Amino acid sequence: MPTELLKADEAGIARAAFLLREGALVAFGTETVYGLGADATNARAIAALFAAKGRPAFNPLICHSPSADAAFADVVPDEVARRLAERFWPGPLTLVLPRRACSPVVPLVASGLPTLAVRVPAQPLARKLLAAAGRPIAAPSANRSGRVSPTTAAHVLAGLDGLIAAILDCGPAVIGLESTVIDLTGSPTGIGPRLLRPGGVTSEAIREICGSLAAAAEGEAPKGPGMLASHYAPRLPLRREAACVSANEALLAFGPPLRGAGALFQLSEAGDLTEAAARLFAGLRTLDAEGARCGLAGIAAMPIPKHGLGQAINDRLGRAAAPRPGPGLGS
Ligand code: AMP
Ligand code: MG
Repeated sequence: MPTELLKADEAGIARAAFLLREGALVAFGTETVYGLGADATNARAIAALFAAKGRPAFNPLICHSPSADAAFADVVPDEVARRLAERFWPGPLTLVLPRRACSPVVPLVASGLPTLAVRVPAQPLARKLLAAAGRPIAAPSANRSGRVSPTTAAHVLAGLDGLIAAILDCGPAVIGLESTVIDLTGSPTGIGPRLLRPGGVTSEAIREICGSLAAAAEGEAPKGPGMLASHYAPRLPLRREAACVSANEALLAFGPPLRGAGALFQLSEAGDLTEAAARLFAGLRTLDAEGARCGLAGIAAMPIPKHGLGQAINDRLGRAAAPRPGPGLGS
């Protein structure tokens, strides 16, 4: 079945919403990365989503809604959740909260957990689609499991052409990193907000709203694919914190580039973390392709500062560089 490439005009959005309601898989652009959408209230659609991604089915998915009111229809927000939503929604923040008993979201979405991860994306076309679909849409990144997340419709097509019904082309993702995931389910037992995944909203910005933000202990949170050690992996091996580079390596540069690389992708000449975040996944894809074309041995990544969005960029580079456990992990 060929994948329909839809323009994000009124007709395209209506077609995409129709397909979602029919239980088909539709990729769409958000400000973070392209998501592979499926009706979260339709178990067959969710099962098909896991199959298309080649994703292990025990990984919980994020439900996307067009507004905070719609998102909070499926979960029980506490005071902190409301404050975070007020400040960061629509935007790249995911909240994990107790699920409402009346929520029509099927258990497979949250791997049977009593909690649910919800988000309201900032990309206006995505929100139009979600409003037209009229139900929560589960949407992990629109790539085959374990590979680099897509930030354009072309990236999605490269990995999933023929495996999904349609792609709504919403233009390039402006943030380019997945959402920050915060677990708020500990509140009743006095446990404060915990960071499950660094992402598009910085830890510093979250602390400004809720005071504290603890790192989730290893093994405590259900591991989403993006939290597995090896993830976001280009095909070429990746080396981090490079202080020098050889002619048989491709260089992922940040700031003035090291000399002598066989290929170069500049994340941000000016050393701007926002620009680097937006270009990270495209950079990994570009160097992977260049490296394969020129027979290079690997990718060398220059050091990235650890503060602000640098936390999420370093998190993704760490997973991209981790030893590979074999196919089928992560997404
Ligand atoms: P992705 O769909 O690849 O953006 O990843 C989803 C992220 O949300 C992963 O980091 C999951 O661990 C996290 N997540 C989703 N649902 C839950 C949940 N119910 N409890 C804890 N984490 C969740
Ligand atoms: Mg992913």
